Amino acid sequence: MNQQYLVLDTTAFYAGVPYTNTTENLVTTPDVISEVSNERTRTLIALSKINVLQGTPANMKKVKDAATKTGDNSMSQADLSVLALCLNINEEGNEAILLSDDFAVENVASRLGIKARPLMTNGIQAKAEWIFFCPACGKKYQKQRADCLVCGTKLEKRLKKN
Ligand SMILES: [Zn+2]
Repeated sequence: MNQQYLVLDTTAFYAGVPYTNTTENLVTTPDVISEVSNERTRTLIALSKINVLQGTPANMKKVKDAATKTGDNSMSQADLSVLALCLNINEEGNEAILLSDDFAVENVASRLGIKARPLMTNGIQAKAEWIFFCPACGKKYQKQRADCLVCGTKLEKRLKKN
């Protein structure tokens, strides 16, 4: 019987997926771990049974090509790496389910035929808050959108600091 793996991206960690108390197979990538800068989160990861795996360079290339085609060019190395890992898991005859709250990641996942699951199923944890900003003129946006209203540059995002 093939196995199901839940693949966590950065937003999954910040949204508080119950990764220390679960019987499910949880996996993520080294790039996600290094992008999760919160110390408490890192401690939880160290205590958890999350497997840290890396997709193949060939699958990384497939993901980059797909992201180019969908216009999601601002994805981080961590975003790309979780999608490549999903492809690897699927290739091995197992089932990867991506846990992500990131619009661009979900978009590219759907193009690649990767199953995605929305994050906020337990309804207790606060959702990670992102700030979207224009790298050219610096205007900030509270809601995700593709381009800057002022200058048309593609927006980037970062986690809101508390
Ligand atoms: Zn702008």
